[in-house]
Amino acid sequence: MDFSLNEEQRRWQNEARHFAREVLLPASLKRDQIEGAFEPWDWDIIKAGSKLGFRTFAVPKELGGHGADFISQAIVMSELAKADSAMSKAFSQNWKWSHLIAEFCTKDQKDRFLTPFLADHTYVIGSASTEPNAGSDNRFPPLEDKSAGFRLKAERESKDGDWILNGDKCFIANGSVGKLFFINARSDFNTIAREGTTVFMVPLDTPGFRIGKIFNKAGWRFYQNAELICEDARLPHANVVGEPHKGQKVRSGVAAEFSDFELAANALGICDAATEYAMAFAKKEKRAGKPLWDHQLVQLNIHEMNMLTETLRSYVMRCAWDMDTRVHGSLSPVLAMAYASDVLQRVTKLNMEVHGAHGGMMDAMTQKLVRDGIIWTHLAGDNTQRLKAVRRMK
Ligand SMILES: Cc1cc2nc3c(=O)[nH]c(=O)nc-3n(C[C@H](O)[C@H](O)[C@H](O)COP(=O)(O)OP(=O)(O)OC[C@H]3O[C@@H](n4cnc5c(N)ncnc54)[C@H](O)[C@@H]3O)c2cc1C
Repeated sequence: MDFSLNEEQRRWQNEARHFAREVLLPASLKRDQIEGAFEPWDWDIIKAGSKLGFRTFAVPKELGGHGADFISQAIVMSELAKADSAMSKAFSQNWKWSHLIAEFCTKDQKDRFLTPFLADHTYVIGSASTEPNAGSDNRFPPLEDKSAGFRLKAERESKDGDWILNGDKCFIANGSVGKLFFINARSDFNTIAREGTTVFMVPLDTPGFRIGKIFNKAGWRFYQNAELICEDARLPHANVVGEPHKGQKVRSGVAAEFSDFELAANALGICDAATEYAMAFAKKEKRAGKPLWDHQLVQLNIHEMNMLTETLRSYVMRCAWDMDTRVHGSLSPVLAMAYASDVLQRVTKLNMEVHGAHGGMMDAMTQKLVRDGIIWTHLAGDNTQRLKAVRRMK
């Protein structure tokens, strides 16, 4: 396998590295420590990254985007995440949309939603599955229990009429800032969730649709997560993605693989940052009359961080290659994500250990990396994700 980058991939790497160092890193800890759920968000950062192409990065070239391959996507996500994991995610969250449009959207949907998305640097997108009592159930839907999974209800007024949506979603990324949401709704309660859901495109100005509470998180503070509320929200049939009741098909495939892959690539950026911070600290600080770097215990800790980060890099890049070359049936994304979660927790903990008490202070990046890593415990490396991988192995 050839691991070298082509000219375009290297160009994106340099672009992302420069943007991360000059714009994201100086803002990272400052934005993280602003109180409130919405307040850490900064439109100037989104606009600046969007002008460089990081918002529309994955839209196919023939549709007006940059058509980035998965290798470039992995590189950009991890380079941005090295400066700030939440900011990186605020850009890559939009890439799911481009995978969905390329695979499922009609020409009319592309005209109505893709055109403004490409033109507006503040157009960001969310995708909503989770409900107050159905998070894992939606990501790993039980195969027999009809009562499990989405409860947000979609009913068609008449055979050719509009759809009416009722119910709530929670924790939805880009929730408080998005202009368009892909909402998964239960359109048939007589069967299991996998067979009875429909995905709708819901623009912010949909009658009966509104944003509720914004969640105030311990990690990924820049990133926005909010409730979405549908109270007789009215949508034309033309906003159905794919076919009615076939939401599972829309949710699976490349768009779903991307969600797993995204978290693995983002975690790599955090691990790179943690390893660099630990090395810099160990070289600068002296304990017991010599640099920390010269103490064997510290060397072993940093060695482990480095080794785990490099194995994760290999896995993420192999996974990107699999996805670019369409090695079908590959378990890479979901396994890489679960692995990334374990590596991330270990590497950020070792970084804390190298820093001692300094690492726990609010002005230290060390503790921020640990707080950002909390997100992986329920989004990526939790047991439900592992069960998902096991089900696919059968
Ligand atoms: C930063 C962030 C971003 C997010 N972004 C989005 C988004 O954009 N869109 C979206 O839809 N959601 C989003 N979420 C929600 C996320 O997908 C859910 O948190 C996740 O699916 C887990 O669901 P839950 O938190 O409801 O936990 P639960 O599903 O309630 O799980 C709680 C516990 O029960 C266990 N459990 C649950 N079901 C089973 C089972 N069948 N078998 C065994 N154990 C089980 C779990 O392992 C866990 O230990 C986001 C959350 C965060 C924090």
